[in-house]
Amino acid sequence: MRVGIPRSLLYYKYLPFWKTFLAELGLEVETSPLTNKKILSWGVEVAENELCVPVKAFYGHCMALRGRVDALFVPRVVSVEEREYTCPKFLGLPDMVAAVADQLELPPLLTPKLNQREKPSEFKWQLINFARDQFGLSRWDAIAALEAARVAQKRYQEELVRGRKPLDLLPASRLNRPRWKTPKSERKRIGLLGHPYNIYDGYITQNLIARLEEMGAELVVPEMTDHHVLMEAATDVPKQLYWTYEKEIMGAVNHWTRQKMVDGVIYVLAFACGPDSLVQVLIEHRARTHNVPLMSLTIDEHSGEAGLVTRIEAFTDMLMRKKRTAEAVA
Ligand code: SF4
Repeated sequence: MRVGIPRSLLYYKYLPFWKTFLAELGLEVETSPLTNKKILSWGVEVAENELCVPVKAFYGHCMALRGRVDALFVPRVVSVEEREYTCPKFLGLPDMVAAVADQLELPPLLTPKLNQREKPSEFKWQLINFARDQFGLSRWDAIAALEAARVAQKRYQEELVRGRKPLDLLPASRLNRPRWKTPKSERKRIGLLGHPYNIYDGYITQNLIARLEEMGAELVVPEMTDHHVLMEAATDVPKQLYWTYEKEIMGAVNHWTRQKMVDGVIYVLAFACGPDSLVQVLIEHRARTHNVPLMSLTIDEHSGEAGLVTRIEAFTDMLMRKKRTAEAVA
């Protein structure tokens, strides 16, 4: 049996885990291609207008796998940390896709529910039961598949903490590459903040990473910091957040500003994203308090290339002028 993983949303976080787990269950795994014009247009056509662009892209990626796989892997990721939640879109994703599955002639969906809100150990049993119920695996074979997946994910995360980006490690992600490098003395350390499915999807962000690196940015991304460090740093806010992925973003900006790791921050957020719009206020406050320049880039399916380039050019130029002034004064 061939199973398709859409190259969108949590693909950028958990592909090594999911791919290994499904392969260990004896399934062939195929991912959809990189986001392109056709995939995004498909998604935009079928999705509700008020949805964020990565969810729209997710529909397009499901459609790109039609005819190539026997089932689509669309897990219901409710909670990945005790007493916290993910974005409501992840809770409802299998229902949102199922609602249009017949109309779009999608293959059947595999939708394990992953919910660690009450107890972290629940996650393990949810996946073991999925493997047993759906594919008839023995308990021990399911546990072995889970262990192999954990090891693959651990290796991936260790590489990220060593400074590599998901783009360097995930298959066929190398399109978002800079064409030239600025000399080290002229580079600025820019913290690139946002959900991985926004910042690493080169089509949605119009190759933002490559453009920034070509303009002399030495990029720092949240994945380069250990998850526990991010979670601890995220507590430095007046009211605790209960969305795990927004906590990671908040933790990253708190950590970078506390450790003086960046000259400026670019925050990429999706238009119509509820969690991001709330966290944005806290991020702006943090950047202001620590005197770190911040630029927020809101993306949707209509974002234009010219506007993006002008804004990031102006931002990187401003950081360079600031750096030269500071060096002249020192
Ligand atoms: S967190 Fe925001 S961008 Fe991500 S899926 Fe939810 S609404 Fe969309």
